Amino acid sequence: MISPKCALCDVEITQENDSKEHVIPNAIGGRKKVKGFICGGCNNAAGDDWESELASQLNPLSLFFGISRERGEPPSQLFETTGGDKVTLKADGSMGIEKPLYSESPLGSGAGVKIQIRARSMPEAKRMLQGVKRKYPKVDLDELLDNAKPESSYCPDMLHFNFSFGGHEAGRSIVKSALALAVFSGISAEKCIEATNYLRNDEAEACFGYFYEKDLVKNRPKGVPLHCVSIKGCSKTKQVIGYVEYFGVQRVVLCLAGSYEGKDVSGTYAINPITGEELDLLVDLNLSSSEIREAYDYKKIPNGSVEAAFGEVISAGVKASFEKEKDRVLNEAVKHAFENCGAKEGEMLMPEHVDKLAGLVMEKLESFILHQFTQSRKPR
Ligand SMILES: [Zn+2]
Repeated sequence: MISPKCALCDVEITQENDSKEHVIPNAIGGRKKVKGFICGGCNNAAGDDWESELASQLNPLSLFFGISRERGEPPSQLFETTGGDKVTLKADGSMGIEKPLYSESPLGSGAGVKIQIRARSMPEAKRMLQGVKRKYPKVDLDELLDNAKPESSYCPDMLHFNFSFGGHEAGRSIVKSALALAVFSGISAEKCIEATNYLRNDEAEACFGYFYEKDLVKNRPKGVPLHCVSIKGCSKTKQVIGYVEYFGVQRVVLCLAGSYEGKDVSGTYAINPITGEELDLLVDLNLSSSEIREAYDYKKIPNGSVEAAFGEVISAGVKASFEKEKDRVLNEAVKHAFENCGAKEGEMLMPEHVDKLAGLVMEKLESFILHQFTQSRKPR
């Protein structure tokens, strides 16, 4: 057997330079990897440019759905609320204030000043208090630190999720994903001329377009913000067609090869990015070359179709963030209760400790529960 060539730079792939390439980028939750597809050097370069662009375009969705990744977490991101505040949304579903707040106001003649500090963490609060100490040396730093307490509150407003996708960098990541699956399914990269051409040449015509005219996933699980890559090589139509969908929302058709000489081949890889579990999907890739051409020209996006696709998965995101926050708050509450009920670590719990536990748990759960009540009673 002849060793394959790197799909991006033509170098012969050997044991030394072979790399494991994710079919769907790890950054958005992909798991499956392909060997014998691209060399190590190209893997790093493509990961840096194309995939980081795709991942940053989709990051609001990665945070919103709380995806599970094999490695690392999606980065925190700043959002504006409907009330105009700026908050940071983190991968664990919690939110933080954008920057620390400091205010100083005089208390009237000779009575001193009132200082208010809101920091994002205790170390930050400590640094800010040290600044106060430099300005007002008489301040008792230890007393102030003892009185500082962490607190969490819920933001009553909704977050604005502005996101958009597109462009050639992210587009190349999508084409590379389809090509990776084609190679995994047994079609050599050399036969996918349209795809390799686009990946290698900045000037080459894009070989993908957005497609919302009909649902190509025939057994779509309800409300799952799924990721899917599917390919089909057809000996009769002489085309290798691809389909890539991310978060149920971004839906792309591709033509990897327009003059394919080879066997009938098809393959699909799909996951639920919230759990990482693989999905068994049927994707109908019987598309004509003119349908694909029209997708290239943005003619397969009926009015309201992108919003409708998003509407189908949005409740899954709301539910996922609720579950995540519930787990986080419960864990914190239980930890807080055991640490403060008076029992020493490893000791048996005595009745007086148990009596205290419930109250301590409730102390921490109160704001979460109140928030759920007020949210559920809000008019839609
Ligand atoms: Zn290479």
